[in-house]
Amino acid sequence: MYIKDPTQSGEIVVKELQQVAQLNTLSEIRQVFKPELFKQNAQLVVDILTRYLSDDSIKGLAMTNPAELVAQAKALMASNQDDKQTLSEIIELYIKTGIQVHSPGYMGRQFSGVIPLAGIFDLVNSIINQPSSFYEAAQLPNVVESIMAQEFNRYIGYPDNNFAMVTTQGASLGNLTAILAARNNKIDDCWQQGLSARQGLRPAIAVSEDVHYSVTRAAGILGIGAAQLVKLPVDECKRICLERAPEILDKAKDEGLQIFCLVASGGSTSVGAFDPIEGLVDICSNRDIWLHVDCAHGGSLLLSEERKELLKGLEKADSFVWDAHKMLFVPSMCTLLFYKNKQASEGAFAQQASYVFDKEPNIYTEYDSATRNFECTKRPMIMGLWVCWVIYGPKLFAQKVEHLCDMTQKACDRLAQISDYTVLHQPQSNILCFRYEPTSLPESQLASLQLHIRDQLREGGRFFISKVDIDGVTALRVVFMNHEIELAHFELLLDEIRALSADWLQTTEPEIAGVSWPQ
Ligand SMILES: *Cc1c(COP(=O)(O)O)cnc(C)c1O
Repeated sequence: MYIKDPTQSGEIVVKELQQVAQLNTLSEIRQVFKPELFKQNAQLVVDILTRYLSDDSIKGLAMTNPAELVAQAKALMASNQDDKQTLSEIIELYIKTGIQVHSPGYMGRQFSGVIPLAGIFDLVNSIINQPSSFYEAAQLPNVVESIMAQEFNRYIGYPDNNFAMVTTQGASLGNLTAILAARNNKIDDCWQQGLSARQGLRPAIAVSEDVHYSVTRAAGILGIGAAQLVKLPVDECKRICLERAPEILDKAKDEGLQIFCLVASGGSTSVGAFDPIEGLVDICSNRDIWLHVDCAHGGSLLLSEERKELLKGLEKADSFVWDAHKMLFVPSMCTLLFYKNKQASEGAFAQQASYVFDKEPNIYTEYDSATRNFECTKRPMIMGLWVCWVIYGPKLFAQKVEHLCDMTQKACDRLAQISDYTVLHQPQSNILCFRYEPTSLPESQLASLQLHIRDQLREGGRFFISKVDIDGVTALRVVFMNHEIELAHFELLLDEIRALSADWLQTTEPEIAGVSWPQ
C-alpha cells in the first residue's frame, strides 16, 4: 500500500503502512480494511486470474534481465495512477515474468498449476488467518488434519490407530523433522546433552547415492555432519541396491559409526526412482535403524491402484513425508509427515514451554501439533487439500496422477522409436530424463549441447524443462505435471530441440567450442 505524501510538493514518497498509520487518522486506517474495498480488489484479482487460466497457449518462461525487472517494479512503486490500476499492473507483471505453470509448455519442475479451488481456499485461509499449530487458534484446521490422516490411511494401511500425521511447510523441513525424531529416539539423551557429550560410536545416516539435498542439509543442521552420510549404491534404475546395502551398513558399524536412520526415496527427484521399501524395512529392523522414506514427489502414487505397488511396505517404515504441493496439485506449501508410531513422533521436539504447552493434556491439546512440528505460527495448509477432497473426491487425484504417469511412458516409448534421442532410464512416475544425440557430434560435446539446449529453450520462452546429471551424464529432464500436455506437445518440444541444436552446430566454430572434430 503506497500513499502519496502531500507535504512533498509533486513528489511521491513511499511509506510503509506502519509509518503511515502513525501519521494518519484512524479513518485512513479503516479505509484500507474496509470490506467493500476487499470485495473490489478480490473481483479485480479474480478477473485477471480467470484470464490467466484461460490462456492455453504454449509458454514456458520469459526470462527477464533482473535489472530491467527491478526498474519495472520500481516504476510501479513510483507511479501516480489509481490503486486499482497499480494492483492490476503488479499482477500482470507477476504473471508475465513467472513460469507459466498452467501451460503445456511447462515441463520443467515438480510444482504445478494448481486446482483452482485450492488456490481460492488460500485466500480464505489468509483472510481468516488461523495459525494452526494449536487447537485454540485453528480449531477446524486441526480437526481436519486428523480427519485427513485417517482418510490417507485408507491408502497407506497402518494396521492400528497408533500412527501420527503432522503438516510441515515443505518436505525439506519434513525430512529434517523426521530425522530429528529418529535421532532423539535412537540416541539416548541427545536432546538435552547434545551430540558433543557423546562417546563411542559416531551417529550416522544411510542414504541413497541419489538422495535429495535436503537430507544432506539435515545431517549438517542436526550435528551429524555431512561426512557421516553413508552412501548406499543404486542399481541401473537408480534404486537402492538391496543386495549390497547390508554389507555397507555392517562395515560402517565396524568403522565406528552408529547408523540410526536410513533415508530411502519414494520417487527420487532426479529420475523419479522408487527404492525397494519392503526390503529396506527388513534390513533396518534387524539393525535397529529408523527407516524414513522421502515420498515428497511420489507419495501421491499411493492413491493410484495401478501405481501404489511402487510404495509397497510404506506402512512399515517409521516415517515418511509426502508433498501435496507436488502431485496433489495444491499451492505450496503443504507437506504431510507420517509416523508409524505416535509416541515416537513426540520425540522430535522433547521440550517444555509453559506459555504454550500444557503439562496435563486435555481434549483440546490432544489436537495441538506444536509439539510435533518445528513451526510456531503455521499456515493451515491442510484446508485447501481437504476442500478439494470433500468436493471432488480422491478419484480426481488418482486419475490425474495416472494420466501423468501414462503420458510419461508414452513420451518414453516415442523417444525409443527415434534414433537421435536416447532415454536414460525406464520412468517409474512422471519424470523422464533423456539426451539429444545428433550423430554428427562427438561424445565429448554432448554435455555442452544438452546445457545449451536447456538454456536456449528457456530463452525461447515456449518450453521450460530442466537438466540433470546422472552419473556424470548431463541430460535433459521433463516432469509432466499438467494433464493438458499431449504427445503432440512433446513432439513440438523435440522439434524445437533439433532446431536449436542445428543452429548451435552451424554457428559454433570447432575451435571456439573446443571440439576436436573427428578427422
Ligand atoms: C521436492 C523434493 C524435496 C523437497 O521438498 P520441498 O517441499 O520443496 O521442501 C525433498 N525430497 C524429494 C525427493 C523431492 O522431490
